[in-house]
Amino acid sequence: MTVKKTYRKISFRIVIIYIIISLFWILLSDVLLFRFFPESMFISMMKGIIYISLSALLLLYLMKQSWSVQNDLIAKEYVDDLTGLQNRSSLQKNLTMILQNEERFHLLFIDFDRFKMINDLYGHEIGDIVLKKVSDTLRDNSHIRFSDIISRWVADEFVVVLKNKSDHEVDLFVNSLLAETSAPIHIAGNEIVNHISIGSVHYPEDTTKSSELLRFAEIAAEEAKKNGGLTHVRYRKELSDKANRELYLEEGLKYAIEKQELFLNFQPQIATNTHQIIGVETLIRWVHEEQFISPGEFIPVAEKSGLIIEIGDLVLRETCINIPIIEESLGKELDFSVNVSARQFYQKDYIARTKQIIKETNIDPAKIVLEITESIIMEYTDFVIESLHELRKFGFQIAIDDFGTGYSSFKYLELLPVNIIKIDQSFTQSIEKIRTKAIVQSIISLAHNLDMKILAEGVENLFQVASLREMDCHYLQGYYFSKPLTLDNLIKYYK
Ligand code: C2E
Ligand code: CA
Ligand code: CA
Repeated sequence: MTVKKTYRKISFRIVIIYIIISLFWILLSDVLLFRFFPESMFISMMKGIIYISLSALLLLYLMKQSWSVQNDLIAKEYVDDLTGLQNRSSLQKNLTMILQNEERFHLLFIDFDRFKMINDLYGHEIGDIVLKKVSDTLRDNSHIRFSDIISRWVADEFVVVLKNKSDHEVDLFVNSLLAETSAPIHIAGNEIVNHISIGSVHYPEDTTKSSELLRFAEIAAEEAKKNGGLTHVRYRKELSDKANRELYLEEGLKYAIEKQELFLNFQPQIATNTHQIIGVETLIRWVHEEQFISPGEFIPVAEKSGLIIEIGDLVLRETCINIPIIEESLGKELDFSVNVSARQFYQKDYIARTKQIIKETNIDPAKIVLEITESIIMEYTDFVIESLHELRKFGFQIAIDDFGTGYSSFKYLELLPVNIIKIDQSFTQSIEKIRTKAIVQSIISLAHNLDMKILAEGVENLFQVASLREMDCHYLQGYYFSKPLTLDNLIKYYK
């Protein structure tokens, strides 16, 4: 119900109560009192005074009540309960006003980089405290002026309107905010590291429409997120084109499973010494409206939309279903690597779902290598260590994918139950450089010392094969041996 309607209802009630009391007073004074005290000038004067005073007091009391109810309602309608900032309706209302009055302003869209994971891992209560702390930081920022607007747009998204500031002043604000909000937050014994992405749009330079202002700023914030987060991106036209393409992909992906547009390719993994196939990595493929769309393009969209969870299950299930077919056709036992994205891994029921698929398809989990990236490990280390131990205990093998591209801390290798390290293809492809060679050599030695297997990805030529053999790399994977193949081609070539 709107504030106006509720207020009208309350006012109507006051009038009714007032009428009832007046009638009661008339009954009491004129009918009852008159019986015992016949009318005199004094009595009728007193009656009048008492009546007027009582009515005035009553009216004052009722008005006060209604005002406080009205204020509460206004607060509820325009103030965000959790943070005390302006809410979405308030921002929209203010924006309409600003568009009429202001000549220039910046609108900033602020979005947490991984709030969903904070909620998933620590629960909503802690998530709320994080939001509250960040909104306090925002409010207390020294660059914010009284006339600026700070609002909570929805969930973990905030919108700030800075009036009459130069681009440089906006940069100062943004940089200080990025620094302040990325400090670890300590709640209930947890150290929560969190950061934000900021997208900004300028009125009137970028657009003059209020709906576009918000959308463009959001698109810019998404771009900032894609660039790794903890950064600021100013809106530009190409970002809209990119966002439209993503929307198209997301829409397509929603029905891709149903329409059976997704399928698997298998890329052989080779033993360096014997050149025999020892395993395959399953890589997903998508043909949509007769076009091949690369996983590099659609996996991030699937991750962002959450569709990766369903897709990830599909990949694992399909892999498991194909294992007996491949092993029987090739006449040998192999390892089967599947990629696990962060969004999947941080899902609370990831382990349960994964185990379930293995049970349903009746596959030995020791044949499955779960490939996780370094970024997964770096985020919520304790949770990840626990989860990986549980997966290992169940029987899965664990590989670290794209090793060397992330934060590469050797410390976690000691803590994690890892079986295989996969050297990222960027190292393989520049192995002729002395420095790269030295890095690759140390990664290989490290794996040997930790009793782990080591695989080099992206092997494209004989020189790379020879260098890696010389360095004692166990396994190789790359176009030199084979591109990812369809099931039929894998069986045809390796039979
Ligand atoms: P990735 O896990 O690092 O997979 C290896 C990528 O390198 C594959 O690209 C593969 O085709 C390509 N590749 C293999 N050998 C060579 C080579 O010799 N030279 C070059 N230049 N490239 C080579 P693809 O299939 O396009 O996949 C790209 C990325 O998409 C994968 O990188 C992985 O991160 C992701 N991805 C693919 N399938 C899945 C999946 O089922 N689930 C998830 N979560 N991610 C997937
Ligand atoms: Ca991989
Ligand atoms: Ca890789």
